[in-house]
Amino acid sequence: MSTFTAPKGTYDLLPPSSATFLAIRERLSAPLRRSGYGYIETPVFEDIKLFSRGVGESTDIVSKEMYSLTTKGGDELGLRPEGTASVVRATLQANLHKLGNLPVKLWYSGSFYRYERAQKGRYRQFAQIGAEAIGAEDPALDAEVIILADDAFRSLGLSNYQLLLNSLGDKQCRPVYRTALVDFLAGLDLDEDTRRRAEINPLRVLDDKRQSVQDQLVDAPMLRDFLCEECKAYDEQVRALLTAAGVAFVDDPKLVRGLDYYTRTTFEFVHGGLGAQSAIGGGGRYDGLSEMLGGPALPSVGWGLGVDRTFLAMEAEGIVLDLPATTSVYAVALGEEAKNVLFGKVTELRRAGIATDLAFGVKTIKNAMKSADRSGARFALVAGDRDLAAGVVQLKDMTTGEQIPVELEALVTTLKEKQL
Ligand code: AMP
Repeated sequence: MSTFTAPKGTYDLLPPSSATFLAIRERLSAPLRRSGYGYIETPVFEDIKLFSRGVGESTDIVSKEMYSLTTKGGDELGLRPEGTASVVRATLQANLHKLGNLPVKLWYSGSFYRYERAQKGRYRQFAQIGAEAIGAEDPALDAEVIILADDAFRSLGLSNYQLLLNSLGDKQCRPVYRTALVDFLAGLDLDEDTRRRAEINPLRVLDDKRQSVQDQLVDAPMLRDFLCEECKAYDEQVRALLTAAGVAFVDDPKLVRGLDYYTRTTFEFVHGGLGAQSAIGGGGRYDGLSEMLGGPALPSVGWGLGVDRTFLAMEAEGIVLDLPATTSVYAVALGEEAKNVLFGKVTELRRAGIATDLAFGVKTIKNAMKSADRSGARFALVAGDRDLAAGVVQLKDMTTGEQIPVELEALVTTLKEKQL
């Protein structure tokens, strides 16, 4: 082992499971790519104020978990803890909202950073696929993003999960509720930290996982009972569209999530096989974020799905993706002359789209054939100088063990016919 290991809370993605990881990214984003969402990539670091203003100064994500740094030039930067603030910043910067149709629909794939207590399913660098639909207030858009997330999880074969749904109200009804909640929380027996949180962001107390706190919240006022008529109608419309699309959901009146910018629709996908770190994705509507970042009013909705946890959820459900073999053909050359000829053929096969690998540094045929076996290839190509003198290579079916000579010239067509 080297002197170094990956930093705490991070891990290396290695073959063969890295292929599954790539496939998960591909499948989680596929529903977006066929629904009008364009790909966006933003820097992994931003002006730290983007996150403190956008995500919220009082959130754990910003106040406790953000990686911050000062550059040699004196700029204060933060490693992105989430994607939405950056995507809205990029949209405003490039004026995407003025240039084309609204909503601006974007998707992203990338790594995010939170200095969290590391444990299984909770990492300090993790991957998300995200979707943001910026600049439209329409319950159909909320339903669209939720349905696309559900389709994404289903396409991986996942089924042991629930969609939790709530409405956080808007700037009309949430303040009324906030006051009622603050009054209620003031009467509880809370520790210093929680009391402070109750003052800065009382809704987040509802999200407290500790039983001692939850026991006291049984009679807490619920936002659901304070929603204004517009928010109520909006919520009902979202629910009706989800139901019509066959997407089941569970009401969770205490679902507030850890970011400040959410309004109205909020949701989380939780998986039954992951223990404490059960959220495999979440999101919601964030109508005020653009204005918080100095832009115009751009009501928006979006989500982030956790790739690492989706991977763990699939493991928990015993789902193995049927991925194409990384190597279909494995070539073994016996002798220098054979090596040169076979190397040329390998390049030809690869250019023809057949996944081919070659044994390097062959010492004995026995070892080389072991490598062929380990590669998982369906066929081995074996050629010695005598074969080449006869203008053939030996094609060995690795499953049956059957071996036949194939004309060098006919090699690509022969293998293509085998539908590799
Ligand atoms: P959030 O922005 O917290 O709603 O995160 C969205 C999704 O990203 C969550 O539902 C998780 O699946 C995933 N996620 C968030 N934080 C972590 C973490 N520290 N480690 C692994 N996955 C995470």
